[in-house]
Amino acid sequence: MARELKDLDWKHIGFQYRPCDWRYVAQYKEGAWQEGGLSADPNVTINECAGILHYCQECFEGLKAYETVKGDIVCFRPDLNAERMMDSAEYLCMPKFPKEQFLSALRETVQANLAYVPPYGSGASLYVRPYMFASGPVIGVKPSDEYTFRIIVMPVGPYYTGGAKPVSVMVSDYDRAAPHGTGHIKAGLNYAMSMHAHEIAAKGGYADNMFPDPMERKYVEEAGGANFYFISGDGKTFVTPKSDSILPSVTRRSLEYVAEHMLGLKVEERRVALSELPEFSECGMCGTAAVISPVGVVNDHGKDIVFGKGLAEAGPVTKKLLDTLTGIQLGTVEAPEGWIFKIA
Ligand SMILES: *Cc1c(COP(=O)(O)O)cnc(C)c1O
Repeated sequence: MARELKDLDWKHIGFQYRPCDWRYVAQYKEGAWQEGGLSADPNVTINECAGILHYCQECFEGLKAYETVKGDIVCFRPDLNAERMMDSAEYLCMPKFPKEQFLSALRETVQANLAYVPPYGSGASLYVRPYMFASGPVIGVKPSDEYTFRIIVMPVGPYYTGGAKPVSVMVSDYDRAAPHGTGHIKAGLNYAMSMHAHEIAAKGGYADNMFPDPMERKYVEEAGGANFYFISGDGKTFVTPKSDSILPSVTRRSLEYVAEHMLGLKVEERRVALSELPEFSECGMCGTAAVISPVGVVNDHGKDIVFGKGLAEAGPVTKKLLDTLTGIQLGTVEAPEGWIFKIA
């Protein structure tokens, strides 16, 4: 039976908040997660002294649900999001939301909003945003006693309009995360930190920042919300920066597997010096929102480093990586074991 679909212009949906019918809500009180459930209320009511409002105890995740070529509704490796959220919570002294409960809450929320999952072939998908915040009151600096976990969903189009068209980024003079800080967890506070730098990049016409390592400012870290990868000059090696202050992207970890096991590339995770960028043939940013955004130009303090055909066209390895990973997600390429989580 064909599923019912909301009357939305799927091809021009953009990347913006749209409340769907149902969201999942669970509360942590008296030392335990209470049984959660679906709610029709898009508003959150919390105490004026809630920990999130004063000391920013919050973490989040981002993943997508898709309709595959066969008409199944699936998510891509949500177990990794569940685990990463547990790591984020632990570092922020928040209770961990159990993995099994995360996966069943995800299933319940997407199933309740099936009519919002964009149809196969539209290029759009259902963005899923799990998040958790300190909802109990605190005024002295300490972890809250109460927390709220929610999952909201919304249909979104491709993050960067124009699909896989290369973008330019600039090397930032700011830091996204401190050495030995919170760069490795998915916390809203890292985004608050990066907004000033992002405004500067946007005003200069750049899609994003390339943040150098905060200690020496010599090595590549990541973008505001995406990891970087590079392809060696001979096109045979996939290189991605190694650092304790970058977020372990699910997309990047998946691309490493695809590069090695499906495209026959060598994979290196190592420090990447800004000074070696001119030696690479391709560069890209990767993350759930955009999957891959090819980078045509990196501007390093007035000097342009151009990869391949620059802003004209993505390189051949980037195109293969993007086609293979989106093919896996949409069911046109066979997925490695355990990558596809079937919802309906
Ligand atoms: C979410 C995020 C990414 C991308 O991670 P995915 O799991 O691939 O979506 C990269 N960098 C930062 C800082 C992020 O917050």
